Amino acid sequence: MTHLLSKSKYIRGLQCERALWLDVHEPRLARYTAEQMRRFDRGRDFEYAFKAQFPDGIDLSAELGRQVDSYSERTAELLGGVGRRRAASADDTAADSGRGTPRPYGVVLFEAGFQYDDVLVLADVVCQREDGSLDIYEVKSGTTLSDTYRRDAALQHYVISHCRTVHSFSIVYNGLDGVNGANGQGGQDGSFAIVDLTLDLAAEGDRIAANIAEMKTIVRATAEPDTPTGQHCLSPYACPYQQHCQQGVRQLALF
Ligand code: SF4
Repeated sequence: MTHLLSKSKYIRGLQCERALWLDVHEPRLARYTAEQMRRFDRGRDFEYAFKAQFPDGIDLSAELGRQVDSYSERTAELLGGVGRRRAASADDTAADSGRGTPRPYGVVLFEAGFQYDDVLVLADVVCQREDGSLDIYEVKSGTTLSDTYRRDAALQHYVISHCRTVHSFSIVYNGLDGVNGANGQGGQDGSFAIVDLTLDLAAEGDRIAANIAEMKTIVRATAEPDTPTGQHCLSPYACPYQQHCQQGVRQLALF
């Protein structure tokens, strides 16, 4: 099943509509610094350290590689028919005080794919409970729970909860700050901080749907948006298209 948006493109689109358009139509123009590449590697190492707590986890990326449009179908096969589309209630939430801590599960998937509203998300760790509902862990190597992490999680929750019953959605990050940091052994730097955001994320649905609709219009456009450069090019991430956009500015200045 083909898709228009992914997690990374959605986050890019929140930063800049031009960056989103370039990600879809001209990704070869992206330029990443050596420090950005090192940060990606550190993030992967931290994620692997958390995944190691689930020795029976099935890694879909090892099986499917770059065939991204096959992930959601394979995920559906592995999770089976139970646990499809039932929104978790507040009662469900209050009932399980042990949520947020890795526990024995039937099926555990790494990079499980879910697609809804033309958006494909690959979730870091998806654990299927006995009743078929899912505990989901999104792993981030940063040492604070940033707004960008929350936005990323909100998109995933939106997509996955339209496909399956989500029992809990937690962000795992580097527990150097000591927040909930006692949930197991950490990566190289510290313990894993696990924060359950399920109820917060469930309230974000309308806003996410509106953002997705706007972004789909942007990526379907044939012309690159003429968004000028500015402070937004550096926050929350240094945009990889700065060279391309500044080139345009320099060319205009020559005339
Ligand atoms: S460099 Fe700035 S204007 Fe250009 S795509 Fe990136 S964020 Fe947008």
